[in-house]
Amino acid sequence: MARAAVPGRLNRGASWRVAQLVESREETGTARTLVLEVPDWPGHTPGQHVDVRLTAPDGYRAERSYSIASAAAGNRIELTVQRVPDGEVSPYLIDVFSVGDPVEIRGPVGGWFVWRSADPAPVLLVAGGSGIVPLMAMVRARRAAGSRVPFRLIYSVRTPRDAYFADELRQRARDDGGLDVSYVYTRETPDGWPSAAHRIGVADVNSHGWPAELEPTCFVCGPTGFVETVADILVALGHDSRRVKTERFGPTGG
Ligand SMILES: Cc1cc2nc3c(=O)[nH]c(=O)nc-3n(C[C@H](O)[C@H](O)[C@H](O)COP(=O)(O)OP(=O)(O)OC[C@H]3O[C@@H](n4cnc5c(N)ncnc54)[C@H](O)[C@@H]3O)c2cc1C
Repeated sequence: MARAAVPGRLNRGASWRVAQLVESREETGTARTLVLEVPDWPGHTPGQHVDVRLTAPDGYRAERSYSIASAAAGNRIELTVQRVPDGEVSPYLIDVFSVGDPVEIRGPVGGWFVWRSADPAPVLLVAGGSGIVPLMAMVRARRAAGSRVPFRLIYSVRTPRDAYFADELRQRARDDGGLDVSYVYTRETPDGWPSAAHRIGVADVNSHGWPAELEPTCFVCGPTGFVETVADILVALGHDSRRVKTERFGPTGG
């Protein structure tokens, strides 16, 4: 059984734990899900992330943040990593890091961009690319909690091949009552798709989101430009900015 998540914003002073990769699976041609076993994991709330630290043989260290994709489940957490071409950490995690290997992690981090199943407000999730990761944790936690809180997810991807968790989302939209999933394709649509490829705009958020009068909690995650565009649209559509929660997946290295 999962234990209670650490409240508050972490825990930054918390110690590093040595986790072990127990499973790795392909999500898309450029992204993998890494299943980590973390000794004494305190549990997490969906939306939180961890810091991952790599140390080279010469002592050089690199640290990056990765959202947790899984709902709380004992000592296991799942991260889904997108390969950033020429990146320092993500290609290592995808191409080199192997089952049985150790990695240092710290967390869970974050107390604002989180969904709690006791909150009855409807939820709008808007993801751009790998920004789906913490939102998927919310979809999975909703299911695990048996929650009936209405969820709508708008997921923007370049092409159908770039969508993470596509089969699971299809199944959950069918089986988890009250979850709607819609896609926006920016470069290539599936055959017969009713609209041309385009970047997310007011019409998408208006048609597939919630009316502001219902006072949904909105979670927006993805690249910085995407997040800012969607947050501006939501506020223009009348959503209270205090209920528009954002997470930007910008570079975290130094
Ligand atoms: C809170 C938080 C949660 C995150 N969660 C995830 C997650 O769940 N999955 C995931 O794949 N990533 C996530 N990221 C991004 C991740 O932390 C790294 O930034 C990313 O993996 C790139 O690291 P890198 O070392 O491979 O590239 P770097 O060596 O840091 O960068 C290489 C080049 O790519 C650019 N770049 C760096 N990061 C990005 C990016 N995200 N998008 C586009 N260009 C970039 C840099 O400016 C640089 O030019 C998250 C970031 C934050 C802040």
